[in-house]
Amino acid sequence: MTYEECTAAELAHALESVRYESPENTGVLSMLDQATLRWSMRYPELADRQQAFSQARHAQWPGARNDETWGNVLACASELASSLRELGDAELALCQERTGWGTCHAPLSEDGQCRSTAEHLAAPSHGS
Ligand SMILES: [Zn+2]
Repeated sequence: MTYEECTAAELAHALESVRYESPENTGVLSMLDQATLRWSMRYPELADRQQAFSQARHAQWPGARNDETWGNVLACASELASSLRELGDAELALCQERTGWGTCHAPLSEDGQCRSTAEHLAAPSHGS
């Protein structure tokens, strides 16, 4: 599952479900980090809590993690979830332009502008 088409409330639910995951499942933490980072680019009020979650999950790698780091991940995920929940059914419009690594997926601003237009590939000159 990816979190690219989640509403804010759905993403909040995913963050709160982290506690039912294994602490070894760092993949889901990484995906949630990326997904919530896009939301914080669009809604700067989320940035502090998103950053806290990101730092907490980076401490969760094999060899570094312990009960304390995991507790910290859950606490930060829960705080970020409550901020996201305030946005309710808001959806994040993501840029669908092509880039060198795939779809751009940068969050669009309120007026539908992408902030990463420099990464977009020029439209192909012949159909493919
Ligand atoms: Zn874009």
